[in-house]
Amino acid sequence: MTKINFKSWHNIPRDKINWYPIVDEDACIGCGTCVIGCGSLVYKFDFNSKKAKVVDPLSCIVGCVTCANTCPTKAISFPPLDEIYSLLSESKVHHAIEDELLSKKENLEWIDILPHKDKIVSMIVDDISHIRKDLIIVKLKPKMKVVDDSFCHFMPGQYVELWIPETKWLSRAYSIGNSPHEDGSIELQIRRIDEGRYSEWVFEKMKVGDTISVRGPLGNFTICSETDTPIIFIAGGTGFAPIKSMIEQLFKINPDRKNILLLWGARDSNGFYELEVIHSWIKENTHFKCILATKKILDGFILPKEVEIVESSLVDVIQNRNYNLSEYDAYVAGPPAMMPYLLKSLMTKGIKRDRIRIDSFGG
Ligand code: SF4
Ligand code: SF4
Repeated sequence: MTKINFKSWHNIPRDKINWYPIVDEDACIGCGTCVIGCGSLVYKFDFNSKKAKVVDPLSCIVGCVTCANTCPTKAISFPPLDEIYSLLSESKVHHAIEDELLSKKENLEWIDILPHKDKIVSMIVDDISHIRKDLIIVKLKPKMKVVDDSFCHFMPGQYVELWIPETKWLSRAYSIGNSPHEDGSIELQIRRIDEGRYSEWVFEKMKVGDTISVRGPLGNFTICSETDTPIIFIAGGTGFAPIKSMIEQLFKINPDRKNILLLWGARDSNGFYELEVIHSWIKENTHFKCILATKKILDGFILPKEVEIVESSLVDVIQNRNYNLSEYDAYVAGPPAMMPYLLKSLMTKGIKRDRIRIDSFGG
């Protein structure tokens, strides 16, 4: 009989989460590995039929698949992980994990005995531009220019982590949305996350003149292509930030850089912003091509005539055009959900996997 279970998983009642083992009795040879191995006592053993029985499915640790991995006949399966991934992207789950980590900091904190290599600098909020109701661009500049010169020399595509002053919350990562400037200033494109307490603070409370702690520059999503290699850049939503930083830098180094194609996808046409930047790239470099892909072009959406927009997904743009990308390098930035499909379609057009670089972020 199934036990009543009052547990929850990061503030979600456990009985609302579809996660438990399923035993294929025809495949089970009754070795008992799962029954003995599961520390959560999810199983009992039927000594007559020599089969494992799932008796307490809600005690199964969400996301654990240990018993399936150790079953010699692969008799154990689980529901698809998609539901768990989708729960993990919810702000309330993210907040619960963050709060739990902070409350257990004393026991869980890893303390590096070596000096920390990442640099944390103080930066001033220099400007806040409201692009649309769920997107702002924040410009930060180093508080002490002479000492903090790390942001004069970062690699386009890198990101930073920000801490909100006077909160205990963990830092949040944002890609830098500009190429390096001499004064070390950086721009971050910050999207408001549904019920996200961090982005709510940024939208409601951050003001010009605030001092923010910034760690970085971080990450290895950076350009590693030869100067004449054709490049396809693909951005999903605010994945445009690191891509913009990279393209801006390429054109700074060589304004005539050939064979650069940008595909940018968004849910609807309101998802595209800084179009004047794209327009200036097209004007200044006749080799540069850009296609915006969205499922919905909203009434009144104004686009410079040189920029192409299609009512389609990014994957369909890649599939339906007569592209041969075998000589290309690809740089792809956007939400994790889009990555498997994009990777597959890029590879069907001839790009080798080791020439595709990915910057995948949540939220
Ligand atoms: S590990 Fe697999 S074969 Fe062994 S008892 Fe469990 S389900 Fe059956
Ligand atoms: S997945 Fe882990 S917790 Fe769940 S039944 Fe198997 S061993 Fe136990």
